[in-house]
Amino acid sequence: MKNLILIIILFLIATNFAQARVFKAVVRTESNRAHQEDVVLQDLISETSFEGKHFRIVRGKSNEAIKFDDSEELIFKAATVYYHLTKARNYFLNHIRSALVADQAQMIIRLELTNQFSELGHFAHDNLDPQSNNALTVPGGKGLASRGVQPWETEIWFRPKKRVHIDDLKVNGLANQEFKGLMRGFRNQIHMQSLQKFMVNILQVMMGTSRQSSPFSIDNVFRTAGSSVIMEFGYQFIDPITKLASRKWYWLDTALIPEIIYHEYSHAALSDHLLLTHSTAVIEGMADFFAGQIAGSPKLAKHIKKYNTFNGKNAKRKQDYMIQFEMGEYANTDFVFGMLWEIKNLLGEENGEKFMFELRKRVTTNSAIRKELIDGIIQTCDEYCANPFVDKIRILKALNQRGI
Ligand SMILES: [Zn+2]
Repeated sequence: MKNLILIIILFLIATNFAQARVFKAVVRTESNRAHQEDVVLQDLISETSFEGKHFRIVRGKSNEAIKFDDSEELIFKAATVYYHLTKARNYFLNHIRSALVADQAQMIIRLELTNQFSELGHFAHDNLDPQSNNALTVPGGKGLASRGVQPWETEIWFRPKKRVHIDDLKVNGLANQEFKGLMRGFRNQIHMQSLQKFMVNILQVMMGTSRQSSPFSIDNVFRTAGSSVIMEFGYQFIDPITKLASRKWYWLDTALIPEIIYHEYSHAALSDHLLLTHSTAVIEGMADFFAGQIAGSPKLAKHIKKYNTFNGKNAKRKQDYMIQFEMGEYANTDFVFGMLWEIKNLLGEENGEKFMFELRKRVTTNSAIRKELIDGIIQTCDEYCANPFVDKIRILKALNQRGI
């Protein structure tokens, strides 16, 4: 009998090569502090590197998976990214039942990559405005056989962090303030803009580049990390990991922030309808919505309720819809995110979540908030709301209160 069990176990091991392994990664506690924890990475198909059934974590432009004997810092990042991507994938696969995710081949995830994205060449030239402190999801490409560029599939890129001292920030007179003060100032003074734009200013000061001299960086940074609520939330909870005594230094180590990892994976999972060509309020708001769902944190939900520019209690000023929201640079992701979150709450957690996943079919990356997004919401409600007539009135009433 014992032998039989042993044989069965050996058979299972032999037929299911994918294995689990324990690593240290950033995980959120109940109270949402980031801390290091031992986690189990599932579905690894290599015994020596971060090569999994669904994800291969590589460094820079390399296609080789990062080895388990690489530097401690890189392994920590690779394990954190792998762990949270698996969580995001399981959410879309098992909870949302996404056909795209079910069919998706192994995805390449790049850490510490500074190159800009090139639609033709995959990676732009090394010297062309190197990137840091952000992350983005890039669409697949056909490659360029004549130049030796191989075809590639959808990939997620995490840039290296780059530190900037607060004294070097001369943005809207907000220098020399601690992070909380900086955020308050941001919310009061430039409420119309998204946090990304605010961060772009900071990052540009840091990199010594202006918008004129680096036409690519705005869009890249803009597609970074979603709305101000998600980003602020992630930002507030990273210091225990960095063990910093003061908040005099700023940077974003995007590979260590779970919500940013969820946000980027959501872009990939929604890309059957929301193409990854460029960043708009709609595409970012949708990715944020699902990042918030994957995080599933009551603390984050509270934060969203309190601070989003659509209906947040602490975001009373200028929270109404403004026509500037439709223009790329002012596109207010936070506003769209708050709006989708509010509609979910109107429809109930489970129905609302299903609703948002269906909504992606009726909007595009280029949808304007006031026109196509609202039309898409109404059409989706016709098909998926429990009581379309009543629910549409409730939705329109909520939108109406915000000037839409
Ligand atoms: Zn994004």
